[in-house]
Amino acid sequence: MKWDGHTHSQFCRHGSGDKTSVMIEKAIALGFERYSIVEHAPLPDGIISDPEVRLDFGLMWDELPDYFQHLSDLKRVYGNRIKILSGLEIDFLEGLEPFAAELVSSLAGQLDDVIVSTHFIKGKDGFKPLDYRPDIFESELIGYYGSIDNVHMAYWETVERMIDVTLNLPATKRIGHLGLINKFSALFQSPSEKFNTISFYEKLLKKIKTKGWALDFNVAGLKQKWYQDVYLTAPMQFWVNKYKIQAIYGSDAHSVDAVGQFYDIFLKLSNVQ
Ligand SMILES: [Zn+2]
Ligand SMILES: [Zn+2]
Repeated sequence: MKWDGHTHSQFCRHGSGDKTSVMIEKAIALGFERYSIVEHAPLPDGIISDPEVRLDFGLMWDELPDYFQHLSDLKRVYGNRIKILSGLEIDFLEGLEPFAAELVSSLAGQLDDVIVSTHFIKGKDGFKPLDYRPDIFESELIGYYGSIDNVHMAYWETVERMIDVTLNLPATKRIGHLGLINKFSALFQSPSEKFNTISFYEKLLKKIKTKGWALDFNVAGLKQKWYQDVYLTAPMQFWVNKYKIQAIYGSDAHSVDAVGQFYDIFLKLSNVQ
């Protein structure tokens, strides 16, 4: 099954503004049979104080009906050529654990697919984005935690709590881009070697398997200027293969040109299908 499990839509304000329909047409042309649209879900109110910045991070609450209407229109137009899954990429926020579950329950019947991701960890005064801007990563995270190792540990501890989230879903659910903390890695000091060892990820990946999650095999990192790898690095892939965790290709496309990107590399790297 050729499936792009992680794409965004014309609703995304940090995307290209490309029409979702054109993205789907590209996926059809590339032979994809299944296509998940998982726009960034609304955040809990008050997480981002600046209203302009807030717009960058995800749908507004009052946009949800239009978004789901958009998806059902697309299903109607393209449904006989590709299976479109309507979804959301929901943020895990430490201390607000019930948020994702409540959101999913409130949208029962409208969600076919869900990705839960950590884009924020706790910083000095509130949640700080780890993949938004290098200067924020440096001042708000490295500055706050005191060392690059501490920031990485905080990320992996947050991810571990994310695994505990229980979603009441008939649909598929995945953990988004494990290792996103490395997005700006070339700009800063490298964390210690332990973060690159197989043993470091054993407990986490075992828990992912036990809790019934699948993973987003996210290739968007290959295009990141300061990273250039997939977000499921070799040490993690070792456990993915060992525990037979389902890892679904994710282009994380925010534009037409990124739909289906690096699918060949995904096929080469992933032994589990
Ligand atoms: Zn995005
Ligand atoms: Zn994401």
